[in-house]
Amino acid sequence: AAPPKGKPKWLRVKLPTGRKYTELRGLVDKYKLHTICTSGSCPNMGECWGEGTATFMILGNICTRSCGFCGVKTGRPETIDWEEPEKVARSIRLMNIKHAVLTSVDRDDLKDMGSIIWAETVNAVRRMSPGTTLETLIPDFQGVERNIDRIVEVAPEVISHNMETVKRLTREVRIQAKYERSLEVLQYLKEKGARRTKSGIMLGLGETEEEVVDTMRDLRNADVDVVTIGQYLQPSKKHLPVKQFILPEQFDRLREIGLDMGFRHVESGALVRSSYKAHKHVD
Ligand code: SF4
Ligand code: SF4
Repeated sequence: AAPPKGKPKWLRVKLPTGRKYTELRGLVDKYKLHTICTSGSCPNMGECWGEGTATFMILGNICTRSCGFCGVKTGRPETIDWEEPEKVARSIRLMNIKHAVLTSVDRDDLKDMGSIIWAETVNAVRRMSPGTTLETLIPDFQGVERNIDRIVEVAPEVISHNMETVKRLTREVRIQAKYERSLEVLQYLKEKGARRTKSGIMLGLGETEEEVVDTMRDLRNADVDVVTIGQYLQPSKKHLPVKQFILPEQFDRLREIGLDMGFRHVESGALVRSSYKAHKHVD
């Protein structure tokens, strides 16, 4: 099929508005705070920030991996900033965030793969904002249990790890990752006592609906509680092309299928990102 031209109307979004959004935007600009919401110009900012949810990236801005869908730069990462946990915690307090999503680049260059900074960031947020709930959207840590344990031990309300795509396309979409390993990480989290686990899939990379349903079933079999399903959009011409724009009806259908499978929450829609409506996934 010819590649789709132009975005369909359901992907066009309004500029974010609202009192809370304007207030947070002011703080972010004034104190130069780093959120994925602003750096990725996420379409859901008005909604998420209005509800007190934002996503923060830790361990620098340069990733050791080079996933074909991802807008983050690949290269030699920065040296560790041991003050980062405090800085992130301060941003969260300053913004008065009710539910924070933490995520990171992959740090395959480090012995602990960044898991120590991860744990310290959770602890720093707990100290400074005891009322804030947390989701940690973690890398696979190459499946090394000691690193994954560090996250479970600090007990974030939700621990997520994204599959991103179906089994067949994993090599193409996330070259350094493995489908089975990601599933194993999710399963292991639950076995070690994670309260709630979550994963995300992007559609429009050439997968079939059947393959998506297979991935959802694999996630349920790994005892995952929450799944997010959204439309992939190409961050730049150098990234993987969009193969299909998924129709709103198909997102609705997948939501129903997911709920029937027993997921506690299913966010399925064109503009859904893995942290979209994340505050709801705590319950
Ligand atoms: Fe931020 Fe995620 Fe919401 Fe987008 S979906 S605004 S990145 S919290
Ligand atoms: Fe992007 Fe994560 Fe892949 Fe790094 S590992 S390129 S941050 S998706």
